[in-house]
Amino acid sequence: MSDLYAVFGNPVAHSKSPLIHTAFAAASGQDLTYQARLAPLDGFSRAVAEFVAAGGKGANVTVPFKEEAFRLCTRLSERAARAGAVNTLAFSGGEIFGDNTDGAGLVRDITDNLGLPLHGKRILLLGAGGAARGVIAPLLAEKPAALLIANRSAEKAALLASAFADLAPVESGSFGETEGQSFDVLINATAASLSGASLPLPAGVFAPACLAYDMMYGQGDTPFLRQAAAQGAAHLADGLGMLVEQAAEAFLVWRGQRPATANLLAELRAGPAA
Ligand code: NDP
Repeated sequence: MSDLYAVFGNPVAHSKSPLIHTAFAAASGQDLTYQARLAPLDGFSRAVAEFVAAGGKGANVTVPFKEEAFRLCTRLSERAARAGAVNTLAFSGGEIFGDNTDGAGLVRDITDNLGLPLHGKRILLLGAGGAARGVIAPLLAEKPAALLIANRSAEKAALLASAFADLAPVESGSFGETEGQSFDVLINATAASLSGASLPLPAGVFAPACLAYDMMYGQGDTPFLRQAAAQGAAHLADGLGMLVEQAAEAFLVWRGQRPATANLLAELRAGPAA
């Protein structure tokens, strides 16, 4: 019988994870089955327990269960403990191991797929929700020259910055407080693009050779990417590469083997809009 994996979310039908992991398994000759599982909003832990009882070996976790997954774990990776959220679970002998591969996925997409080093760069991280929290430590590990977190609610950005201050200096503020500064890498980790909203960013935040990266994917050019293009940003990217790379990192956690991602990413980009 093939090893059983799943992604838990609510909603989950739109998830590309079954497609991605099935492609990874086929390309690496691994025998596994990967399903999308809708967990009731008040029944995540029960759904996971049933999955483990049925022989489940591991799972991904998506909105809105990443924090609940974090609390369910009996052991955490350091990066998951830092993130306060888990997107990858591995089950073995009664243990629930939790990891967070989102930040590693983002960093790999930027540095490897896009070929843009983060070392020595000035980074502006927009947003202070779960996605932002998950990527801060991996971004700091690249030793940028500066990291500033800007959020609609500036106090949430300040709390987040102080939670990582032991790793490196992290600044914070409102969007308006970035006035007069420019950045080499701007990462949109807000949910604004989901509702088609643009961010009130001062003119000049996009340095001419900068990368504007929207974690959102599947919607074509987002308001953030249009804003960046209008201000002359040299590189624009959506979050599809991050999605594929966080999945590759999860596959590595489960199977001890990192799958190649380039062909799959190209196929997904060429395919119909998500
Ligand atoms: P959360 O709900 O945890 O956080 C939402 C954040 O967006 C908060 O900082 C909130 O600000 C801000 N926000 C929401 N609406 C607006 C708006 N209209 N204007 C300005 N700021 C706004 O969401 P997540 O952190 O989980 O997800 C954020 C995004 O990242 C989503 O688009 C998600 O799809 C994407 N994502 C992509 C991944 C990938 O693999 N590519 C992985 C994970 C996430 P405030 O604090 O003021 O409310």
